[in-house]
Amino acid sequence: MLTGMQAVFIGGDARQLEVIGRLLELDATVQLIGFDNLQTPLNGVTRIKLDTEAFAQADVVLLPAVGTDDKGKVESIFSSEELILTEEHVAALPKHARVFTGMAKPYLKTICNKYSIALIELFERDDVAIYNSIPTAEGAVMMAIQHTDFTIHGSVSMVLGLGRTGLTLARTLKGLGARVKAGVRKPEHFARALEMGFEPFYTKELIRQVQDVDLLFNTIPSMVVTSQVIAQIPHRALIIDLASRPGGTDFRFAERRGIKAMLAPGLPGIVAPKTAGRIIAHTVSELLMEDYQQGRNGS
Ligand code: NAP
Repeated sequence: MLTGMQAVFIGGDARQLEVIGRLLELDATVQLIGFDNLQTPLNGVTRIKLDTEAFAQADVVLLPAVGTDDKGKVESIFSSEELILTEEHVAALPKHARVFTGMAKPYLKTICNKYSIALIELFERDDVAIYNSIPTAEGAVMMAIQHTDFTIHGSVSMVLGLGRTGLTLARTLKGLGARVKAGVRKPEHFARALEMGFEPFYTKELIRQVQDVDLLFNTIPSMVVTSQVIAQIPHRALIIDLASRPGGTDFRFAERRGIKAMLAPGLPGIVAPKTAGRIIAHTVSELLMEDYQQGRNGS
């Protein structure tokens, strides 16, 4: 249990509701900032204002998937007020406090670092990234179905990058009956792809490999689907770029060539906010309970 632990939530979307629910179950004291327009009222929470006082007693601060923007703005679909997390807020936190977010921009990293406040980026964790790859793959399949007039079954589908997201997606596409080409750069990834029944190739050969592709999914967070690559892609093909902004596709050139290409960020929160929220809630509560246990043992 987390009895006596003070948790301050700032902004977010439906995913945060799962985390709030979990911390309440564990008997934490929950304070909310930026949840004024919630449709369903939450019992057992206190609504507070975003000021330094709110931070002075906090053991943990929970920010949304993208913690803040480059100027400290925290997104909240439940608030009409603008929420800006400032250096003064972080400075007011007790030294043992921890800040949780999905991923942090340099702004948040810098201020947490300046005041020696632990910042936990949940999406950097392998377990969270692998769990998240499930709704991401489902979302990518959904987009492919919505934006094509052919089935995934029987298509030539290409996945670039066989990391945590790429592997799940490639397996999902294969399960749907696609011929799956997997673009990698390491021999061990090539070997794994072959073992899993994909058709591996090295990304340096991408230009040659895209010529028969129907669906191209990119998970590599750097410019790989260049204008030279796009020039070789058939017109019927659809490019879905899953890599974090700005993605790895030359979207301007794709548009010029009349090839449908889309950046698809934040799929877990869009297609399965409940599952995505539970993934975060599970990890946050495990980490907080570990902390709490260690604190009680004096270690
Ligand atoms: P990851 O596990 O690090 O996978 C990325 C893969 O790309 C790695 O296997 C890496 O292999 C490979 N790679 C990098 N550069 C390469 C290159 N030039 N040629 C071939 N392979 C290359 O990351 P992830 O968790 O799968 O996430 C991938 C991206 O998707 C990230 O940008 C992440 O933010 C994003 N993402 C988006 C969503 C969404 O909803 N759209 C959801 C989750 C994640 P090496 O070992 O060779 O580096």
